[in-house]
Amino acid sequence: MQTKQAKAYAAESSTAPLAPLQIARRQPGPTDVEIEILYCGVCHSDLHQVRNEWSEALQTVYPCVPGHEIVGKVSAVGADVKKFKVGDHAAVGCMVDSCRTCEHCQSGHEQYCLSFATFTYNSEDKHLQSHTLGGYSSSIVVDEAFTLKVPEGLDLAATAPLLCAGITTYSPLHHWKVGPGQKVGVVGLGGLGHMAVKFARALGAHVVLFTTSPSKKDDGLRLGAHEVVVSRDPEAMAQQTASFDFILDAVSADHDVNEYLRLLKLDGSLVLVGAPEKPMPVAAFNLLLPRRNFSGSAIGGIAETQEMLDFCAKHNIVADIELIPIQKINEAYDRLLKQDVKYRFVIDMATLQA
Ligand code: NAP
Ligand code: ZN
Ligand code: ZN
Repeated sequence: MQTKQAKAYAAESSTAPLAPLQIARRQPGPTDVEIEILYCGVCHSDLHQVRNEWSEALQTVYPCVPGHEIVGKVSAVGADVKKFKVGDHAAVGCMVDSCRTCEHCQSGHEQYCLSFATFTYNSEDKHLQSHTLGGYSSSIVVDEAFTLKVPEGLDLAATAPLLCAGITTYSPLHHWKVGPGQKVGVVGLGGLGHMAVKFARALGAHVVLFTTSPSKKDDGLRLGAHEVVVSRDPEAMAQQTASFDFILDAVSADHDVNEYLRLLKLDGSLVLVGAPEKPMPVAAFNLLLPRRNFSGSAIGGIAETQEMLDFCAKHNIVADIELIPIQKINEAYDRLLKQDVKYRFVIDMATLQA
């Protein structure tokens, strides 16, 4: 297999900072699209995996080049590529392939592929007999079936976070049919949470943001929440008891989900998209009375991701971002841990050439 060199930032171990690394990318095959990466969002999942915090479910393989919120420009296409031509804008999210034949892939749920999807990084690379390397890099080569079209008119840097934070919140809101007349909670105003607030509002729900950060109150309202509740205030929490149809939990750190289960009405659903390191205890009676649901959801399928991008173009929705040079990535990770992000870091990949 012929390869090309690309520039990247990688972690060599769970305790090493991210640092420059030359990596190999395959030459585009017949159905491949080669993308010059312009912007890449910084997801908390990047930090979890760089630091091997999900080791019980998924061991990180090093060197790890994270990044799965990719927007760029097509620089080459294989002979059989139909959707893209050189110069088009293109995007890549959390997956670059899957088996494409199992019942989940066939029904558009590639993220739940029964043989496991090939994730954009930290998966087996079927082409290079290595592991996949993500978007903190100058280029990537992806089969066109897993490459998304960027709708006209969207700001490119602010579109990058839609590829993970966007689809991960859009998908459950649709699956659980969130809409007008419903009271919907969003827990945690970070990258995912701020997109969930925007989507839930656009879908017509009454939106309540739960945050541990009183300083985020005004932003919560500006982003679309009708109410903001500081979750460390027990009285404010008690006032919300048994009143929600749906709550999306987008918290990255260990926290007590029982506090949110108690806020659901009969048949209400608490859906986890956040992926903290440790297991979460659930008190049985918070589920039994009155008949509540506790579920999870992972990213979204490829067709659904395109649908989400088109929905964003129609409703003029993008992420609120802070653009950073790649040289500030380790600082950005420290700030993520301090809940100091408004509301997604996006790397300006041109700075990789500096
Ligand atoms: P983020 O930007 O760091 O936001 C996380 C938010 O959680 C923070 O802004 C904070 O909101 C809240 N938080 C942090 N520490 C907390 C604590 N100790 N107690 C209570 N709340 C706390 O992270 P993100 O990129 O949105 O990702 C959120 C989680 O979703 C991560 O675990 C990530 O791995 C996961 N994720 C899952 C999927 C999926 O497919 N299911 C996809 C992408 C990401 P406040 O300041 O408002 O409290
Ligand atoms: Zn992500
Ligand atoms: Zn499959």
